[in-house]
Order: sequence, then C-alpha cells, then structure tokens
Amino acid sequence: MKYQSVKGFRDILGVSAETFSFVEKTARAIFRKYNFDEIRIPTVELSDLFLRTIGETTDIVEKEMYVFEDKGKRKIALRPEGTAGVVRAYIENNLSQKYPSQKFFYIGQMFRQERPQSGRFREFSQIGCEYFGNLSVYADIEIILLAKDILESSGIKDVKIEINNLGCEKCRPLLQKNISEIITKLNFDNLCDDCKRRFSKNPFRVLDCKIDGEKFKGFTPKLCNECSSEFEELKNGLKNANLNFTVSNKLVRGLDYYTKTVFEITSDVLGSQSAVCAGGRYDNLVKDLGGATTAAVGFAIGVDRLVEILEKTVRSPKSEAKSPFVFVCATENDDCKKMAFHILSEIRNSGIIADGGYFEKSLKSQMRLADALGTKYAVIIGDEEIKNKKIILRDMKVQQQKEIGLDGAIEEIKKCFNRNS
Ligand SMILES: [Zn+2]
Ligand SMILES: [Zn+2]
Repeated sequence: MKYQSVKGFRDILGVSAETFSFVEKTARAIFRKYNFDEIRIPTVELSDLFLRTIGETTDIVEKEMYVFEDKGKRKIALRPEGTAGVVRAYIENNLSQKYPSQKFFYIGQMFRQERPQSGRFREFSQIGCEYFGNLSVYADIEIILLAKDILESSGIKDVKIEINNLGCEKCRPLLQKNISEIITKLNFDNLCDDCKRRFSKNPFRVLDCKIDGEKFKGFTPKLCNECSSEFEELKNGLKNANLNFTVSNKLVRGLDYYTKTVFEITSDVLGSQSAVCAGGRYDNLVKDLGGATTAAVGFAIGVDRLVEILEKTVRSPKSEAKSPFVFVCATENDDCKKMAFHILSEIRNSGIIADGGYFEKSLKSQMRLADALGTKYAVIIGDEEIKNKKIILRDMKVQQQKEIGLDGAIEEIKKCFNRNS
C-alpha cells in the first residue's frame, strides 16, 4: 500500500520551507521591535470557544471546523484561527495582571476544512498578534504599521490597505436598522439562503456575501458621534504615518467578534480577492468570554499566501540554493573514517557549513556527491594522509589540491572560508 498526504494537506519542501522560515524569522524580529511577547497556545480548544467567538453562523464554524470528541466525551476543535485561543489564554492565565505591557504574537498552524482550491490548504500557517488594554486609535495605527512592516520586510512591495469601521454597541442597532431597511426595500426573498439564515444573527454578513454584497454598493453606514470622530482620528493618524489606504464600506470581515476598526492588506500579485493580512478591533471579546472589559486589537497574516507571493516575485529558487562550504571524504579504512568524521565535526564547530560522512560510498562517488552539492572545498583523508598526519584540501572549482598538516588544517579551512565570505 502506498500512502499519500491527506486531501487538502501538503508537504512544504526545499526553498518553500526556507521561505516560510525566513518569513517567521523576519516577523519575530519586527514583533520584538514593537515590543510584542511571544505566546504559544494549544492547537486544540473546546469547540464551544470558537462558536462563542467567531460566531455560530459563520462559514468557519458552520462548515469548516475540524471537530471531534475526545475520550472524555469533550467536543474538541482544531483551531481555525488564533485570536480565540489567545483571548482564552489571556483570561485563564490572568495575563492582564502578569504583564505590564499586553502585546502578544503567535506563529502557528490553523485548520479549516475548506473546499480545496488552488493556493488554499486545510492546514495553513498564520502569524498574528493581539494587543490588549489600549483603547486609543494609536494602537490600531501601530498594528497596521506593524503588519505592513512585516510584509514589506519579507519582500512584498505595493501592498494595499483597506480600512472600515463597524461601529460600537451604540451604533450597531442603528446600522442594523439601516441594513434592514435596505433589505426590506430589496425584498428579502431575493437574498441567498446563507444571508436569510445569518441576517438576524449578524446583518453585516450580508454586506460581505459573495452573492448579495454587490446589491449594497452605494450603502454608507452611519456611525455614532464617538465612532465617527475616532474613525477620523484613525484616518488622520494613518496619513501622518505615511500609510496609504482606502476606506471600504464593504469590508466587514467574516467573523462576528469585530467592533470599530477592521482592515485588510492585499497584494495584486494573487489577484483581487487576495488578502494576505486581516485584522481589527474586538473590544467586547474578552468580556464576552468571562474576563474584565478589555480593549483589544489584532491581526493575522496568512503565511502560505505571503510565501506564494514571494515565490512569484522576489525569492527565486536558484538564488536561495545553499551549498556546504566543505565536504569531507574518506577511504575505506576505519582510521580514515574516524579521522574524517572528527575533522567534519571540528569544521562544523567552527561555524562553517559542512557535509560528509558518506563513507559507505567509494571515494569517487563521494567526490561526485561533493561536486553535485556545489561544495567549494573537499577534504580527503586516505591511508597515506593518516600515516603522514596530513589532509588533502581540494579546491573543487579550480580542481587543484594541496596537502596540509593535520594540526593547522582547521585554521587553514577557516582562512579559506573567510576569504570566500
Ligand atoms: Zn459607535
Ligand atoms: Zn447572500
């Protein structure tokens, strides 16, 4: 029987894997710059947590969550996103008391049982952050800047930022009334089944609907005085931070927990429906889950999409190929193998990328492998070399070799390495 990866899941190999690591490393450095602390949360949570936070009528919860029962008959879900778990951890661990600054970031795998389509996988990676306890729009501005900083430092150019304001509890009833009026005018029967079902839970979802969204093209939501002045402050702050953005009334995000600011960052490289980052404010979520009233704002970057964009634009596979600097070969004699393996370790200990130890192969095929790997230098150890306490150092490019005394061998290799780097 031949095994294959599960439908919708994939192996990430070679340059792609390196690009994932590069993006993660870049993100960590930038989060540090903005003074965010890392948080690692479990891959599973009680499925109820996601029902309460993301919303029962969202696509994610209705159709896409991996839910199963564990042996204790608990209903468990593979996390479809990171925010719910971080908020749960924030309350459970009393982080508001433990940390003077409450800015957290996470990097990890998420799971959604979406219909497989190109560029979408059922296991995907997100880099996200949650910033608790700051009501000021400057927290919103900071995290939009931060998201853009991560994307640009990873190598993406020309990102587009869209923002919107979904209002607070005060403006929400008004917004709902406005949307209802339009829907009544439109004739409710004309809406798709999803919208009919979702409307009473969260009318904003209708604006977000792929089928019905277009019908609300000219609709501008009215906000309460506080929200509209905050929205002005946000727009001015973004301008002062030299961030270009557009306001999109259609941007409502697919999750129920957002309030006030929402935003998406897109890149044209993957076509129009290509948000690579999305986020916003969710000032009620901590309280809804049993914590104290706590302002919060955050975002998540889709790493798979980010990597796809980078592979289509900047990071070409060839330029990223890495070769060992030294390759260590030995002839069949046991003493040669021992000595060669010792030297290989010494080279690595001095911080130089090295390969070797393929001692079951003939010397000829070891050299062939060194060549195929693009190695700069080969170290060869045979019976003669052991007897004379020497090694052979071969420059693979010019195909010349010399003997060096065993004592000075590592120093000599280091010198070659420093000349080359
Ligand atoms: Zn409001
Ligand atoms: Zn619809």
